[in-house]
Amino acid sequence: MNPEVLLSRIRVVLCRPSHPGNIGAAARAMKTMGLSRLYLVSPKQFPDPEADTRATGAVDLLESAVLTQDLAAALAGTVHAVAMSARQRDLGPAVGAPRHIVANLLEAAAEGEVALVFGNETTGLSNEEVLLCQAAVCIPTNPAFSSLNLGSAVQVLCYECRMAAYAGTPPVGRQGGVTPFASPRATHDEVEGLYRHLEAVMTGTGFFNPAQPGRLMQKLRRLFSRSGLEKDEVNILRGMLASTQKPTGHGKKG
Ligand code: SAH
Repeated sequence: MNPEVLLSRIRVVLCRPSHPGNIGAAARAMKTMGLSRLYLVSPKQFPDPEADTRATGAVDLLESAVLTQDLAAALAGTVHAVAMSARQRDLGPAVGAPRHIVANLLEAAAEGEVALVFGNETTGLSNEEVLLCQAAVCIPTNPAFSSLNLGSAVQVLCYECRMAAYAGTPPVGRQGGVTPFASPRATHDEVEGLYRHLEAVMTGTGFFNPAQPGRLMQKLRRLFSRSGLEKDEVNILRGMLASTQKPTGHGKKG
């Protein structure tokens, strides 16, 4: 199924968040990973300027956030819900690792709406809240310091959702490492044209002797194959080669 559709079916539910800043941070974490549906169960303070500040470019998610009185109302219509818990509990579903549980969550998302449920900053999720979920996740942390900030926990899970939705290779945008001056890959004919040109120039200068070719052309092919030539690069190299074959007009004469 289309990854964007899958991600759009994931609700991030924050139960009784105390700090509006964390609500903003959660919205930002979600939007960076392509999630958009924020549910707030009895937030202490919302809307709030601090939430807007921390959300930066994700204020639209705050504006479209759904507010409910309790978790049951936030889960209405979902087919699967996962409780986020920093600690093991006696009650409730067995606690699993994020990657494994997120894979199941996305399978369910192919059939309907799903939810990731986060707890209050101080008290976490109540047992009653955890019992409304079908699975639980604990992010593996330093055992001696296991509790993440709420916004950070949302970020980790949203990242896992994105990776899973795109089968490990989400597309990257311009800021994500695409070289702005890159050109399309050179075609087979363009690259072969370059090799012929190179061979002609090297023969002309005496660097290459076609009667005793050795491995020179094979070595050069290996070198250029490794670099993954682009159209512009082939054109530059051919321009350089051509410049050795004709008078420049701007060199000294006589
Ligand atoms: N002191 C609370 C933790 C509050 S952190 C407790 O012991 O439960 C706020 C929320 O972030 C948690 O309720 C949980 O939903 C999420 N969270 C924080 N650290 C986590 C972790 N290591 N694994 C899973 N969820 C975590």
